[in-house]
Amino acid sequence: MKRNERRPRQIFILKKAAILVMATLGIAMLFTVAAWAECDTGEYSNQRQKMADRQIAGRGIRNPAVLAAMKTVPRHCFVPERQKRNAYRDGPLPIGHGQTISQPYIVAIMSELLDVKPGQSVLEVGTGSGYQAAVLAAMGIDVFTIEIVAPLGERAARTLKELGYETVHTRIGDGYKGWPDQAPFDGIIVTAAPSRIPHPLIEQLAENGRMVIPVGPVRGVQQLLLLRKINGKIKRERIFDVRFVPMVDKKGKGY
Ligand code: SAH
Repeated sequence: MKRNERRPRQIFILKKAAILVMATLGIAMLFTVAAWAECDTGEYSNQRQKMADRQIAGRGIRNPAVLAAMKTVPRHCFVPERQKRNAYRDGPLPIGHGQTISQPYIVAIMSELLDVKPGQSVLEVGTGSGYQAAVLAAMGIDVFTIEIVAPLGERAARTLKELGYETVHTRIGDGYKGWPDQAPFDGIIVTAAPSRIPHPLIEQLAENGRMVIPVGPVRGVQQLLLLRKINGKIKRERIFDVRFVPMVDKKGKGY
């Protein structure tokens, strides 16, 4: 009799344990899906192809690695929620803290001007949303990127990690000084405009390296420059006029 009484209790305990295990598994799965689905990388793929064809290839960008990166990197995952539907428009967009993500064409032409190959290293000054860094990473580049506004740099680092861009290394700090312990760099891309070319960046550019940088006053015309280090000397070429946010120091004062 006693044995028969025990059996239903054992079954009851077993059932409770099974429910507990299933509930834990369920909650764990929900969390995984929620984190993974934070940005649906499959969305907007039609708009992205059109952007790459019309705005990028259509305007003369020919480097296949740049075109491929522009077709694959989910730009909508790098902008605030309310800007997602504008992500593939032909212009810059606000990303908070008074900063902007550059127009797709500017990202593409700066990437093309760098003329870097897979496995080479690029320093980026001005991480912003992390989009430019992701485009370079998609081209097989090792990217070292610095952002002076901590919340922006931290958010970009999270986005890049979630999307799996493992060759991007992020840092919060003043990019005017570059990243000395990782120098020299095969390429340097500056996405905030100083009034003069920062000397530390010239020093951290490798021989035969290229730097793409907007230079000019905060209010007024800036020029996109391509610098090349040949036999230790800098050759400069003007590309065209641009408008970038200013490069600032930790007190917010323009360089
Ligand atoms: N490349 C970015 C866009 C950058 S906007 C993207 O793809 O989204 C320019 C960024 O440069 C801003 O986020 C600004 O905060 C940052 N910045 C300005 N001065 C800086 C400095 N001295 N060092 C590092 N980042 C700087």
